[in-house]
Amino acid sequence: MLRKIMIALLALGSLQVQAQDAKMKTFIDALMKKMTVDEKIGQLNLPGSGDIVTGQASNSDIGKKIKEGKVGGLFNIKSVAKIKAVQKVAVEETRLGIPMIFGMDVIHGYETVFPIPLGLSCTWDMKAIERSAQIAAQEASADGINWTFSPMVDIARDPRWGRIAEGSGEDAYLGSEIAKAMVRGYQGTDLKKDNTILSCVKHYALYGAAEAGRDYNTTDMSRLRMHNEYLPPYKAAVDAGAGSVMASFNEVDGVPATASKYLMTDVLRTQWGFKGFVVTDYTGICEMEDHGIGNLQQVSARALKAGIDMDMVCEGFLNTVKQSLKEGKVTMADIDLACRRILEAKYKLGLFEDPYRYCKEERAKTEIFTDTHRREARNIAAQSFVLLKNEGNLLPLKKAGTIGLIGPLANNRENMPGTWSVAARFDKAIPVLEGLQSVLGDRAKVLHAQGSFLDYDTLFEQRAGMFGKAFDRDGRTSQQLLEEAMTVAAQSDVIVAALGESAEMSGECSSRSSLDMPQAQKDLLMALLKTGKPVVLVLFTGRPLTIKWEHENVPAILNVWFGGSEAGYAIADVLFGDVNPSGKLSTTWPQNIGQVPLFYNHKNTGRPIRAQWFEKFRTNYLDVSNDPLYPFGYGLSYTSFSYSDVKLSANTLKSGGSLTASVTVSNTGKYDGQEVVQLYIRDLVGSITRPVKELKGFQKITLKAGETKTVEFRISVNDLKFYNYDLKYVAEPGEFKIFIGGNSREVKEASFRLL
Ligand code: BGC
Repeated sequence: MLRKIMIALLALGSLQVQAQDAKMKTFIDALMKKMTVDEKIGQLNLPGSGDIVTGQASNSDIGKKIKEGKVGGLFNIKSVAKIKAVQKVAVEETRLGIPMIFGMDVIHGYETVFPIPLGLSCTWDMKAIERSAQIAAQEASADGINWTFSPMVDIARDPRWGRIAEGSGEDAYLGSEIAKAMVRGYQGTDLKKDNTILSCVKHYALYGAAEAGRDYNTTDMSRLRMHNEYLPPYKAAVDAGAGSVMASFNEVDGVPATASKYLMTDVLRTQWGFKGFVVTDYTGICEMEDHGIGNLQQVSARALKAGIDMDMVCEGFLNTVKQSLKEGKVTMADIDLACRRILEAKYKLGLFEDPYRYCKEERAKTEIFTDTHRREARNIAAQSFVLLKNEGNLLPLKKAGTIGLIGPLANNRENMPGTWSVAARFDKAIPVLEGLQSVLGDRAKVLHAQGSFLDYDTLFEQRAGMFGKAFDRDGRTSQQLLEEAMTVAAQSDVIVAALGESAEMSGECSSRSSLDMPQAQKDLLMALLKTGKPVVLVLFTGRPLTIKWEHENVPAILNVWFGGSEAGYAIADVLFGDVNPSGKLSTTWPQNIGQVPLFYNHKNTGRPIRAQWFEKFRTNYLDVSNDPLYPFGYGLSYTSFSYSDVKLSANTLKSGGSLTASVTVSNTGKYDGQEVVQLYIRDLVGSITRPVKELKGFQKITLKAGETKTVEFRISVNDLKFYNYDLKYVAEPGEFKIFIGGNSREVKEASFRLL
């Protein structure tokens, strides 16, 4: 009976969707009949916002363009007042009054900033991630924005690439789950609601595989690797209903993604059934002149033909597509299709019903940077931190005595939100010092010293301190800073060293050829350790770092990424044990940079190591083992967990059936805690080679001290599928291994056979 009701409801739902689609089609058909070719091309144009000043929108350069029907949308304008003013120009001063769409890089929060995406991914908490996107959507939409350039789902295995900070790490399964959660969070179930916004999955495709980690660089990989290891998160976002996609800067198979018909049409639309619109990345079209595949007219035509709908910044479509139409290089159908897709997005956002739907001043006053949002950001930030080491249970610290807080990141507000936080209230972000003082009250004393520069090299420091996140020097020498730090250290019972990268040492065009802690800070850390006082390293970073020396010499390391507006509070919550850390790495941390790229789900090769490093004529190095410093999925807690052996409900699996793998997990320590139980599978024999392990499930559970829980994973044939040599998505009969554990290295095993 229940099943019948469900089927009836689904059928009803699909009928409703069909009716809505038909209504939309009728509306857009009628509108497009009235549009000139120029007006249609105008819809494809997303210029830089330029000189919009409140009160002068109509007279600005961009205002003139809008009046001429040459603008489909604008991006990165902040405030309802400004957005309303330019929207008014589009609605009241153009021939057809077509409203504009307003985009922004709302990447990890709006004014309330959450941890950088790489940090968020370490929560492994899909509800929390979805909620962060929901809050971001609520705040952005309250301020006039209806389209975000997020989620960024690029798989990245090379931490030299600065944009690893903006994604969810190295794993396609975790990345896909997060992609879905973000799309759900932004778009909700109804895009027409004024507190949901259109998402844009980016950067399609393979942007994270840039050669040598240099930004915008060439990517080149087999279709097998593409489909099995890099494309799944984009597909997951599309399956979850993402309304738009952004083309990436890089080339794929010798063709810039922006001109790749294979990516934009064959895969995205034909294989995956994507129905939304595709926008280029910033100047993506004109950059194809530098890629060397033609002049502006040629590359614009190629982009349109490939399946690009909207041109960000270049105005290549605006200025050349009509000529290409005359010359027969593009067709009216190409232009119509792109225009229709953009109009559809506007329709779905409800902009034709009310162009000012997202421009309500009252909402801007009451729904942004609220206490509730900030509280949630604090909780989520605390969940994103990863405890890398905790020798002798140095952490949590007691709320007593004197704490020496030392380091260039100890009292720095502007760096807390991290990279890509366009809308952040930097003046309100909470630095570590303020967090510690607030959590401690008068129970303990906090002494503070800067201790060192970010780095000795001033030019490097400038490059690493852009967008208002500069590390101002106050005239003191590094020796003077160190002396002050030593004085503070001498008076302290414990030292908290707040060190690492600045926010802009990761992010766009912030690639590094070294993953070490900047030398000035490393020298400070050595000096602090020499005092013999216990030292806790609070590590800021937007990427995996090479901290082997730190791991060997510092008793406790808490990695805090960039935690967002409430970072300082969240750090204090964890340091003093009000929150027990539960973050798990979504990337492998190498021992040294020469191991990069290092990732857990690699292939076995024909000559894997059999026993122990070093083995001659096997896949390994002379000077370092293949082991990571910290494996994917790793992260400690103030408590400890033990895992039972894996139990399987059956030893065979039939196509169409499923089996259950279970373990019991016990909290064997003194604190209540959360653990991310991870399921990995290995396909032992395949028609193509298969990874040594692949994440296929995870559950984040809460266990009170002493408590035991059984965790079950249902495994079905779908979990065993991969793209075979002919790019068919199949599961192949044979032996499989299952691994369950608290990280990708320490696992319990079992095996079964797919019949
Ligand atoms: C970045 C995108 C971003 C766009 C718009 C580009 O430089 O690659 O991620 O969405 O700018 O600001």
